[in-house]
Amino acid sequence: NRSFSKLGKKVSQKTQAFAHRTSDKHIRLAVTGLSGAGKTAFITGLVNQLLNAGLIGKSNNLPLWQVTREERLYGVKRDLQPDLTVASFDYEQAMASLKQTPSQWPASTRSISELRLAIRYQPQKGLLAKLTDSATLYLDIIDYPGEWLLDLPMLKQSFSQWSMSQTRREHIFKKSDCYGPFNEAVSQLDLFGEADAAQLKQIASLYQQLLLDCVNGHGFYYAQPGRLLLPGELVDTPVLALFPLLGLSAKTVTQLDAGASNTAYQVLKTRYKQYQSKVIMPFYREYFAKFDRQLLLVDCFTPLNSGKDQFDDMTQALNGIMESFKFGQSNILKRLFSPRIDKLLFAASKVDHITRDQQGNVLSLLTQLVKQSQKQAKFEGCEVEVMAISAIKATKHAMVRSGSAEVEVVHGVDLSQQKTVTVFPGEVPKMLPQASFWDTQGFEFTHFAPPQVTASTQGADFEHIRLDHLLQYLLGDKLN
Ligand code: GDP
Repeated sequence: NRSFSKLGKKVSQKTQAFAHRTSDKHIRLAVTGLSGAGKTAFITGLVNQLLNAGLIGKSNNLPLWQVTREERLYGVKRDLQPDLTVASFDYEQAMASLKQTPSQWPASTRSISELRLAIRYQPQKGLLAKLTDSATLYLDIIDYPGEWLLDLPMLKQSFSQWSMSQTRREHIFKKSDCYGPFNEAVSQLDLFGEADAAQLKQIASLYQQLLLDCVNGHGFYYAQPGRLLLPGELVDTPVLALFPLLGLSAKTVTQLDAGASNTAYQVLKTRYKQYQSKVIMPFYREYFAKFDRQLLLVDCFTPLNSGKDQFDDMTQALNGIMESFKFGQSNILKRLFSPRIDKLLFAASKVDHITRDQQGNVLSLLTQLVKQSQKQAKFEGCEVEVMAISAIKATKHAMVRSGSAEVEVVHGVDLSQQKTVTVFPGEVPKMLPQASFWDTQGFEFTHFAPPQVTASTQGADFEHIRLDHLLQYLLGDKLN
């Protein structure tokens, strides 16, 4: 019997050690969205809420997050990021901008970066709850430009097929003053002649200016190659000295394909292949393949302000981005590795811009956008949810009397004028707007300055809309 109890002791020691090891869980949450979707503001706001959460005695700013509601959250701390070759998300710099007087929005995402948090909590159920009174969930948050996902379709296309697909965007390119110089420079290029590196570089830079002007100057979204917009570490490398050849006939392509390997055409073709294998594939293999959960932020208001063409282009770009998450058999990524993203959240960002009664409309607008894309191919093995949030609430909602009726309005500091304004921003369409809609109804969403952080603020520095709901969806099951 002695030996039995000895054994029992040994077993229980072993189980305890096992429990300690398994009590530390780990999750990689990726955050993306097209430029201006609100990624930097979101991560800054979320980290600020988390670092200030779970302090006993303070009011709970995240009541819909179960672990805080049940008072099982001990606290959240920054921890050393595991991957030393990826840039760190600069939370301190972002907070420094927000804490300035007057406060400023932090600089937007330009490349990939990450940050690790350690969430210490009390397990609720199972073996873990009995054996440990605290466990840690390590949360890696990875920020990367959504534009990089727009490159996925290029993996399935040859250089000439890609050029053909870009030709279909010529009507958009033509809206930019940069189209003329690019087109002119390409017409001077002898595709059958020996490649001149300087000439190709110069034309690629004109194409880059064209893409940048379409996006930043005209409010369009779809731009390929995505790295020409946000090159990250590839700035100035020859693999980015790439541009499509618009309007090539099938006959010309056949003749060009038969040319020597040093012609301008063949060099562009080689660069395109290198872009596929050295830029697109490594991103999916080294980063994307390791994401557990993905948040996709969508700014619905800017394209509503810009007009029908821009809104349609955003819809198309979102559909392009969603291709990366359709893990069905036909998905090219599935053939390269087994993607492990099991939860995908689409969040309409910045909903503090609009009155509360309009937030439901944004939600149904985004839901419709997602559903439309889901129809074509399902997000297999991946749970999908849609929300409307604001990471850093810059406005206050109020009611004002207009005649005999009470109307809801939004108060905030106008970013360009730096003065307080009270606005009714207009109605957000519930459904994807029809062509006629753009003629009859205007949108005027104000850009608001971030809230001024006061030194005396207790707990988190900002108010938010539904970040707790978002945390429950993305992390709730890992904190039971
Ligand atoms: P990124 O390009 O995705 O990193 O976008 P940012 O995070 O830089 O956000 C772009 C701009 O959107 C910011 O400079 C703000 O003007 C605005 N913005 C982002 N999040 C919010 C929010 O929660 N509320 C409000 N009012 N504005 C926001």
